[in-house]
Amino acid sequence: MEEDVNLRKKAELSLGGGIRLPKGFVMPYRLSRSTAGPGAGSSSAVFAFGKYRVKKGVSYDSGEFELHDEGGVLSLTRNGEPFLNGVDIKPVVYHCPEQAFFNLDQRCMYNCAFCASPRLDRNATKGLTPEGIVGMVKDAMVSKTVGSVSLTSGVVDSVDDTVRRMADAVYAVRSEFPDMPIGVEPYASCAEHIRILKEAGADEIKMNLETATEAIFRKVCPELDRDGIFRLLSSAVDIFGRGRVTSNIIFGLGETDAELKEILEDLCGMDVIPTLRALRYNAYNGESLKAAIGDVPKVTPDRALSTARMLKDCLERYDLDSGGCRTMCIECTCCDLVPFRDI
Ligand code: SF4
Ligand code: SF4
Repeated sequence: MEEDVNLRKKAELSLGGGIRLPKGFVMPYRLSRSTAGPGAGSSSAVFAFGKYRVKKGVSYDSGEFELHDEGGVLSLTRNGEPFLNGVDIKPVVYHCPEQAFFNLDQRCMYNCAFCASPRLDRNATKGLTPEGIVGMVKDAMVSKTVGSVSLTSGVVDSVDDTVRRMADAVYAVRSEFPDMPIGVEPYASCAEHIRILKEAGADEIKMNLETATEAIFRKVCPELDRDGIFRLLSSAVDIFGRGRVTSNIIFGLGETDAELKEILEDLCGMDVIPTLRALRYNAYNGESLKAAIGDVPKVTPDRALSTARMLKDCLERYDLDSGGCRTMCIECTCCDLVPFRDI
């Protein structure tokens, strides 16, 4: 089958460097200052082309890609060479388009080597209360489509406290917006945590296994319990239901494709929908990653494309359709090649 040219462009753009804005260019929407995800710590915007969209760091000073504005018609070049025509900039609600995605606390008592959140200079998430979140969602609805609300958090003080704080926020959002899809991304350490979030009103849950193998996990998330996450994913399927539980695997940490395939099979076999995130290096995680895994080759667009196909094939064989997910990264699509949406 002929590959969609724009799909490859999405792979190249999302794995590449930032976008330099033309001098004097006024962004049509406010920039997103993320505290989680690959763009954590940078000012970014969402660029759309065809059915694809990618969130990219932007600056007026430098960038691997350059934005051009010819009378309102936007295009991108890459190191001066033509790259992509017909580009649009999309509004961000909070953190991502058409979705209010809040990081309740960027601080974290753990130190996963790839994670920028706890390494950011200041606590940009300080003071997010359940009432404040509801108010922010209401404000956003005045001018934007808000299709879902999602919540993530670093672990501060204790897993218990963090889950309860997340549940309070879920409860407040659910009380105000009875039909709003709500997604949660906690670090949970017992089935009770998962039940609390479900009972508060969450519809979908994402609990990240993070790595393809236990050996890599021990290097990059030495303080977390991978077996525990595995067991709790099964509880999460019992509590939230099939098709409502997702788990992210970061690839590019030194695993082989065979190891990646094995973990995707394991997760799908448990009725969990895996998501794949290509490892990105940034100003915050370069040193910790080098200390943990040494020099590992960066993910190439070819590998991003082949692993996305591997994931889609696995989901199809287990009859798991992530097209039904309404929250978090699957719905957003800005950082990954998402089966049934992009590919
Ligand atoms: S548990 Fe790990 S991945 Fe999650 S916020 Fe903390 S350091 Fe980051
Ligand atoms: S794909 Fe996930 S991490 Fe990336 S911008 Fe969207 S919600 Fe954030």
